[in-house]
Formats: sequence, C-alpha cells, structure tokens
Amino acid sequence: MSFRIGHGFDLHRLEDGRPLMLGGVHVETSAKGAVGHSDSDVVLHALTDAILGALGQGDIGDAFPPSDPQWQDANSDVFLSHALALMAEKGYRLENIDVTIVLETPKLGVYKQRIKTYLATRLQLPEDAVSIKAKTAEGILGELGSGDAIYANATVLLTYL
Ligand code: MG
Repeated sequence: MSFRIGHGFDLHRLEDGRPLMLGGVHVETSAKGAVGHSDSDVVLHALTDAILGALGQGDIGDAFPPSDPQWQDANSDVFLSHALALMAEKGYRLENIDVTIVLETPKLGVYKQRIKTYLATRLQLPEDAVSIKAKTAEGILGELGSGDAIYANATVLLTYL
C-alpha cells in the first residue's frame, strides 16, 4: 500500500457584514466573515491545499487564480471538488483529515460537530476520520488575536488503492 501525506493552511481577514463559512457550514453566530478569494472558507481552502499537496499538484491559487473574477464569492466546494477529482483520477483515496481552526470569537463549540458531520458526509469518511479542532490566539498574534483574522490548517493522509 502506498501512502501520501499533505498539509495546507489558509488565513483570511475578517470583516463585519459577511457570512463566515467554515468547512461548508455557515457560522451564524459570527458578526464577521472572511474576506478574500471566493467565499473565503479557510477550512475548505486548507483542506484543498492539503489534498493537492499530497498529490504534488501545486496549490489552490495555481488552479483557481485569485485574480480571476469568476472565483469572486464562489462556493469553495468547487475547489475541494477539483482536488477530490484529481485524487480519484490518480487512484488515491482519503483515509483521514485533521483540521485546526484559530478564531478568537465566537467560540466554535457546536460548530465543530456540525463541520465534522458535514465533511464526513461530503468526503464519504466515517466521523472518526474527520477531526475538527478549534483554538483561540489567546489575544495575541496581531489580527488573529484581535479577532480580525481567521486561520486554519489541515493535514490529510491518502492511500493508493
Ligand atoms: Mg483562502
């Protein structure tokens, strides 16, 4: 059996009046949302980069340039779908994912399970193969600590069928 490991991270600024999307789930309790490429879902972006990384296929910006207006406000599931299709084409499948989100506020409590359930279904994985962790920046680390940015990283393991 052949294994591939991949890692991705993503960081976006947060601004008032935008929806906060995390792992395909709308965090309704957040007054702020992420600004940037597409809907700026840092979990899906980090996950997409991790899968592309495991496959040695560059990064999300290579496939979907942020300068291209067609990706403005796009649902980030488009990017994930691209990475999953490449993975399947190359004969790999996901074994597990491990994601950490850094967000000062709101507390993600109930959302961690919602994201886990959503991604387990989306990725056709058992729930114990989908780890969603959340931390704060303890009030430090500049914009992360002041609640003006959000960060996520993702690690994936692929196996060759
Ligand atoms: Mg991004």
